[in-house]
Amino acid sequence: MIIKTKGIVLNQRNIGDNDKVITILSKDYGIIEAIANGLKQKNSRLAASTQPLCYAEFCIFKGKKYNSINSAEIENLFYDLRLDVVKLSLAVYLCDLTASITLNNDSSWVYLRLLLNTLSLLEKNKKDERLLKSIFELKILSLAGFMPDLVCCNQCGIYEDKLMYFLPVESKLICSKCIEMIPETIISIPAPLPVVSAMRHIIYSEDNKIFNFNVKSKTLQQLNLITEYFVLSHIERTFKSLDMYKKMYAQLNNDYNT
Ligand SMILES: [Zn+2]
Repeated sequence: MIIKTKGIVLNQRNIGDNDKVITILSKDYGIIEAIANGLKQKNSRLAASTQPLCYAEFCIFKGKKYNSINSAEIENLFYDLRLDVVKLSLAVYLCDLTASITLNNDSSWVYLRLLLNTLSLLEKNKKDERLLKSIFELKILSLAGFMPDLVCCNQCGIYEDKLMYFLPVESKLICSKCIEMIPETIISIPAPLPVVSAMRHIIYSEDNKIFNFNVKSKTLQQLNLITEYFVLSHIERTFKSLDMYKKMYAQLNNDYNT
């Protein structure tokens, strides 16, 4: 059977001398693995369209044992992202994070839209890349069933406190009074009000508005710490691409504080 779907290449790995297995986040069928044959041959039709970060319309032969790519029509290569090593390393991490999440195939277009929107803003330099990273991390985990409860303090129900604490493993907010009652063995990260407001915006606003806000630099550092810890607490693996991104960012900016 041949299926046709739009999707973005999350990663690729070699098999044999000439072929690669491509992981695609597709609009209609969730995450698909498919073999792309003959990529190292001269004039390979598929060489460009099967690179990571390429968004294309793919024709895929669905076999009993494995799938293979018949053809692909490129829609967006995110070419400008590839020219900036820091942005590229962040984009690779976002793809790795997406590939590590078990997603519901019926709603894979929601994940695809989030990833495409984030990559597009990253490419166009329209938002601080660390803010894009935090928005993506918090939103994709929420979509994947790990939505934190940020409505109020989980103990006393107070909506706002100058300083609240986020419990990344428990996915809860606790106010500065109630934190006294939380055992010290439970990890808590300080979350001043601007950080809580930013997190609430990401989680609770409509999908087309989640990128429509900005925060000050100090808030961004705190937000980054929280969303990254949140990812690592729930995905239960580390990402080489994240380490790479942080290293590159630190080298260029000398101030990555997470
Ligand atoms: Zn409380």
